[in-house]
Amino acid sequence: MRHLLVLGGTTEARALAAALAAAPLRVTSSLAGRVAEPRLPVGEVRIGGFGGPDGLAAWLRAERVDAVVDATHPFAAAMSHNAALAAEATGVPLLALRRPGWTPVDGDRWHRVGSLDEAAALLPALGRRVFLTSGRQGIGAFAHLDGLHFLARSVDAPEPPMPAATEVLLDRGPFTLDGERALLRGHRIDVLVTKDSGGAATAPKLTAARELGLPVVIVERPPVPPGVPVAEDVAAAVDWLAARGPTLR
Ligand code: NAP
Repeated sequence: MRHLLVLGGTTEARALAAALAAAPLRVTSSLAGRVAEPRLPVGEVRIGGFGGPDGLAAWLRAERVDAVVDATHPFAAAMSHNAALAAEATGVPLLALRRPGWTPVDGDRWHRVGSLDEAAALLPALGRRVFLTSGRQGIGAFAHLDGLHFLARSVDAPEPPMPAATEVLLDRGPFTLDGERALLRGHRIDVLVTKDSGGAATAPKLTAARELGLPVVIVERPPVPPGVPVAEDVAAAVDWLAARGPTLR
């Protein structure tokens, strides 16, 4: 039986595992182990890092992996980089499954920045009460902003350093437009910070911000490693696998 490794941690990775559940393939989904109670994909799952590109290459060889789909979050740049190096070292075909980023529409007041540090530098000019949705791992970039109040939403609690005035909201998507409207109004938010994660599950905050005329600071995505083909949705990833035929190579 051919073996596919899906580097996961996203809705798309779970959807891909589900789409392949009945296929004559061994599918292993891999999670980093960051989230205390992750949403698990169907089928075989392994949890934890591989130990860098060399560790991943060794795992691909030991487990006789025939293809890898990197379906990690668009901002999981280290894992994507490692996957590209390990694929090159082993000759195992690699596909990046990346949902498209968000695009602005009329009425949006977006400020695109290249990093969380740039977002932090811009914030004091845009507002005082910040809805921070860029994830718990990056909250340290805002820790020095003493004059601002932060509502920080994440799946698990962030750890210090973080801004002195931080209210933590533990929650995970999908979120509704009604819910996001109520949140922005209830907390008197005047600026939103987000990564350009793309996808429908967390997009309602952008609509709610537009309706309320709020500025949004959007952190741009890191690039997909050069030479790695990209599928924008699960169907395209399944097509890529099918094009490899029974051997996947
Ligand atoms: P990262 O910075 O790119 O990766 C750091 C290290 O974590 C990697 O070098 C690897 O360790 C390990 N790792 C990451 N993803 C892995 C996976 N799917 N399976 C096994 N090991 C993995 O990653 P991150 O940004 O911390 O993201 C971690 C996980 O959360 C990913 O699965 C990602 O899809 C998910 N996620 C991330 C974000 C985000 O904004 N970054 C948002 C939602 C979900 P080794 O070097 O030891 O192999």
